[in-house]
Order: sequence, then C-alpha cells, then structure tokens
Amino acid sequence: MSRQSLTIGRVLGIPVALDYSWFLVFVLVSWILGRSYFPTEFPGWSPFWYWAVAVITTLLLFASVLIHEIGHSITARYFRLPVKRIVLFIFGGVAQIVGEPPSAKAEFWIALAGPVTSFILGILFQWLTGFTTSLPQLFAIVKYLAMINIVLAVFNLIPGFPLDGGRVFRAIVWGITKNFRKATFVAAGVGRGFAFLFIFLGALQIIGGRLGDGLWTLFIGWFLDNAAVSQIHLIEIKTALEGHRVAEAMSRNFTTLPADMSLEDIVRHHILGQGRRYALVEEQGKIIGLVTLHHLQQVAMEELASLTVRDIMLPISDSRMVTPDKDLWEALELMDAEGVNQLPVVSDGEVVGILTREHLVSFIKNMA
Ligand SMILES: [Zn+2]
Repeated sequence: MSRQSLTIGRVLGIPVALDYSWFLVFVLVSWILGRSYFPTEFPGWSPFWYWAVAVITTLLLFASVLIHEIGHSITARYFRLPVKRIVLFIFGGVAQIVGEPPSAKAEFWIALAGPVTSFILGILFQWLTGFTTSLPQLFAIVKYLAMINIVLAVFNLIPGFPLDGGRVFRAIVWGITKNFRKATFVAAGVGRGFAFLFIFLGALQIIGGRLGDGLWTLFIGWFLDNAAVSQIHLIEIKTALEGHRVAEAMSRNFTTLPADMSLEDIVRHHILGQGRRYALVEEQGKIIGLVTLHHLQQVAMEELASLTVRDIMLPISDSRMVTPDKDLWEALELMDAEGVNQLPVVSDGEVVGILTREHLVSFIKNMA
C-alpha cells in the first residue's frame, strides 16, 4: 500500500486509510476545539473536560467525514463502479473510485450522495441535541457535530471542481452537452474561479490581521486550484492517448535477467536502479516474471546473497498484462487501478514488449 498512508480497517469491504497528513490535522483540530472553541462556547469546565470533549469531537468529526465518503461509495457501487479505498487526509476524505463514471446520471448521484449524507447526519445530530441538555459535555459534542456536518454539506456543494458540487455541476453540463471533455473543462474552469476567490479572501483576511484564518483560506484556494488544473491535465492526457494502441508506445527492447541470478549480483552490477527500474525474468528462453526496483528494495541486506530473482519476482501469470492492440488510455487506467508503473505486453502467450508510465509520457511529448 502507499507509503504515505496507514490502513486502519475496512468498511463494507472497502479499505480505509489515514494519510499521514491526517495526524497533523487531528492534532490541529483537537487543539483549536480544546483551546478556543469549547472554552468560548461552554465556559466554566475544567481543562480535562475541554481536552476530552475536543478529542472525542475530532474523532467523531472524522467519523462523519468517513460516513460522507461511504455515501459516495455505496452510490458508486450501485452504478457498478468499484471503490478502491477511502483515504482520510488533511482536507477531509476521498473515496477512490476506479474508472470514470459511466454516465452523467451516475456522476450526478455519486457526487450528490456525499453532501446529502452529511446533511442527514447534521439533522440527526441536531435532533439528538434535544436529548442531551442535562449532560453539558455530551450536548457540546452533539451540537458541534450538528453544525459541522451542515457546514460540510454546504462547503462540498460549492460548484468548484473537484468538490462534490463541482462534480454535480459537471454532470449537469455533461448531461446537457453530451460532451464529457467539454463538461470537464467548464467545471474545472469554474473550479479555478472559486479557487481564486478563496485565495483573494485569504489575502483580505491576512491584510485584516487574521493571519491564521487567512493562511488556511489561502491553502484551501491553492489546493482547489491544483486539483482543478490536474483535472484539466488528466483530460488532456486522455484526449492524447485515446484511440492509440499499446503497440505505438511500448518498448520492444527490454532487459531480461536469468531467473537464477542472485540478488547480490544485481546489486553489485547496478542492474536495477540508475534509471532502470524493472527487468523481465527469463528461464529457458521464456519470460516467466517481472522484477522491479521496488521488489528488490523489500529484501533485507543480509538476504541478498541467498535469494535469486525468482524468489522476489512477480510471476507473469500473476501480473496484469495488456495486448499490443489495447487502447493506451485503458492501459494507463489499468496501471492506476493496480498501482503499478509498468505492464508486460503479451501477444499469443509471448511477452513481446513492456509498457511503462515513462513510455506514455514520451509518447505524449512526441505527439505535441
Ligand atoms: Zn464528498
């Protein structure tokens, strides 16, 4: 799994991970709640209660974000789109849905499901406040969660792509124009507009002396702008690759290593690393596996002498493969879905080449 995140469990079979930035935001939110928000709203408690309530509230806030993402995930599954995992990070959460939504209708409902879930949660917590008035600490938690879930619903409905509202907006433009590409450009453009608005507001707050708030608003604007620009890039890459075949971009010249070669030899002769990140593994004239720098890095120093390539390779039968006539865009989607950087290219049971992300990049560059 990704080095920047920690898998903490599964919900409905979907892995849930915490990005390391989450820990930072967990501390930050607990701090703001325990030091400023709760003491202002509910004066007169002991410090213990402020911290206890702050930590519990922060955990429940992230549980609310998780439920928001589960709302997206369940709807995505309804439209037969698999959900790879849910990641909680500094700005909340994201459900990593594999592939593009099949229709404007699917995108509309998948995107809307999150804010609707948050809104329902907000109403639910609001309703619970009525039962907790005799328990001030519990009341404080429930009241905050009611407010923050409504804020989450409203914030996410801002029509700036890639926020949920931006996706809802793209789905509507897509439904009207029947053109996914155009809809993405329009939605990303509006998203950048909102991003600049945040940056502008952040600057105003800083000028007005509210440095902390201002930096945070700037940061959100910067994040939204980056996300919008990367969506534009993605659609440009898709346009460049679509309709082209794997055979046009793949490399037919690949390094092969004998299956019984010791890992020590690979390290000593710098066979992997220094620009070469993978090799195919050969035995009796047949390609039987793929070995990458990543595989090699998993091996402990003292085991290098006793292991061979065969011990650490990914057998070709377990590897995802593509055929030379596969669409390049679909090959890239497959790499993303599998989290790999290269795919063996197979024709009639024979490995005839390899396709890497670098090949795709140079293919696009050569087209321009
Ligand atoms: Zn959402």
